[in-house]
Amino acid sequence: MTILTPTNNTGAANSGLPDEAALNRMASEFFALVPGAAQAATQFLPSFSQGNTPEAPPSARTLVHDSSSAQSKPSVPASGVPQNAGSSIAPSRPQAGGASSSTPYYFVGQEHGYPIADNSLDSLAAQGTGKQSGASAFNVPGQEQLQRILGELYPATSATSAPAQQAGGSATQPAYYFQQGEQDYWDQAPRAANPSLAAPFDINAVRRDFPILAERVDGKQLVWFDNAATTHKPKSVIDRISYFYEHENSNIHRAAHELAARASDAYESARKKLAKFLGAASEQEIIFVRGATEGINLVAQTFGKKFIGAGDEIIVSHLEHHANIVPWQQLAVEKGAVIRVIPVDDSGQVLLDEYRKLLNSKTRLVAVTQVSNALGTIAPVHEITALAHAVGARVLIDGAQAVSHLRVNVQALDADFYVFSGHKVFGPTGIGVVYGKKALLEQLPPWQGGGNMIADVTFEHTRYQPAPARFEAGTGNIADAVGLGAAIDYVERIGLENIALYEHALLEYATHGLKSIPGVRLIGTAHEKASVASFVLARYETAEVGKALNDEGIAVRSGHHCAQPILRRFGVEATVRPSFAFYNTCEEIDRFLAVVRRLANNRK
Ligand code: PLP
Repeated sequence: MTILTPTNNTGAANSGLPDEAALNRMASEFFALVPGAAQAATQFLPSFSQGNTPEAPPSARTLVHDSSSAQSKPSVPASGVPQNAGSSIAPSRPQAGGASSSTPYYFVGQEHGYPIADNSLDSLAAQGTGKQSGASAFNVPGQEQLQRILGELYPATSATSAPAQQAGGSATQPAYYFQQGEQDYWDQAPRAANPSLAAPFDINAVRRDFPILAERVDGKQLVWFDNAATTHKPKSVIDRISYFYEHENSNIHRAAHELAARASDAYESARKKLAKFLGAASEQEIIFVRGATEGINLVAQTFGKKFIGAGDEIIVSHLEHHANIVPWQQLAVEKGAVIRVIPVDDSGQVLLDEYRKLLNSKTRLVAVTQVSNALGTIAPVHEITALAHAVGARVLIDGAQAVSHLRVNVQALDADFYVFSGHKVFGPTGIGVVYGKKALLEQLPPWQGGGNMIADVTFEHTRYQPAPARFEAGTGNIADAVGLGAAIDYVERIGLENIALYEHALLEYATHGLKSIPGVRLIGTAHEKASVASFVLARYETAEVGKALNDEGIAVRSGHHCAQPILRRFGVEATVRPSFAFYNTCEEIDRFLAVVRRLANNRK
């Protein structure tokens, strides 16, 4: 198939290489015109499918590592842009048809020897204002359906509200929001003040950043709707971890040699990124843990052990994942404390008035999820936190399902603790974060003892490091912390505001489709929702629906989602739970809806 005949316009002619910018642009335009053809891009154009959106000049974004340099660092000219100086930092991966191809990388700048992603607002602004050549449209496969549905849902405003209408970087304000009010995370003010935030992302380019999305299951194109369980990793994260092991691997903090310095720098730089990502006051407030579960256990074993006693009360909501129930139960049993539960209404939203009644002078801690993994409900954590503080209680927010969907600022929330898992925000497994207010962390005892967390040890006595080292005993998951930093770079490059807008459209589209299928009962219909469309189908076990979807290559979770109390509140033991990320499309939702509709029509 000879379709692509790019004009060489970036000086690549001298090298005899194809012009990647032109190819990327043409590929993007080509696949935008072919519904459902996003996957083909990874097969036809493997060399041009990875990294950032194609509109940025590859010459400024291509990194090829110079393996011959003394320190194995990429060669960086005065411009700060790594140059092509040898082999790629990432291994070639097998491509369709058995060919393998090296991959271009899209990074700008350098940090501790490792090139960092270009997230600068200038760069985003250049994309958003169409200054770059070939500004891409919001090339969403299925955007016509999306517009039609949004037109029905928002008849008065749809002409300007659909994401597809924002092509070309116009700063059109969306007419719909995830939620309104104090905790509105679609914050219009910064978006209006900074037109770059209005920059749409190119869905085809985004999908090509995630190699696993090109997988096939029994010959069918994989559809990944199990994002609430875990998210997939962009190539930049995979490459960053490889780079760590190839060029930086060492234990941190202790040894005095070059690799120890590189590893320490990479690890601490990731901590800084996480602090910025969460809006923390300082990186000393960021503790690396294995994930949200370990984070909640850390708070239970430190804050809980020190500040919660017999007769004290811990409040959780009915929405909680087991990870935010069991550690408090264990603590309550040990200490003689009492657990109280905020009820939810029939839509799955927490009842603030009932919550107010639970608060009293014995309340020591309120531990709530920001987004429910089973229902998708976004809880009013601003109000919950303020009300808890009014009675002197501390607040832990479980952000496991929140950070990949909405902008979080722990200082604006005034959270005392905030936890999440890296693997749910496009980062590696086995790494997560506890944010804690510095003044509070300094009052807490360690929870595990060992190396790294001590200042001085004798057989009689140990002095501990301040936070965060005090809570990071032993060798941590260094490489994955660094990989999580790369995931944060990636998410910031797309922009959480863009992600929120697009995912909201996906959720509306899926919800609308599900509602039209006889026998479907949605579980969780709160006005404020993110990403999750839990449902049951009359006369089918949830496992049967999950299997029928899997037979078509569509991955959803069916089961109790580690949140049995909230499902039982709705009279069910299990649901089918498609959950969306910004790399999903309306075409994929159509495939999913077709299976559910077929099952509904062929009722047993
Ligand atoms: N909290 C919520 C809301 C979750 O959805 C999950 C996982 O699904 C967790 C906590 C636990 O996360 P992890 O298993 O990564 O520790």
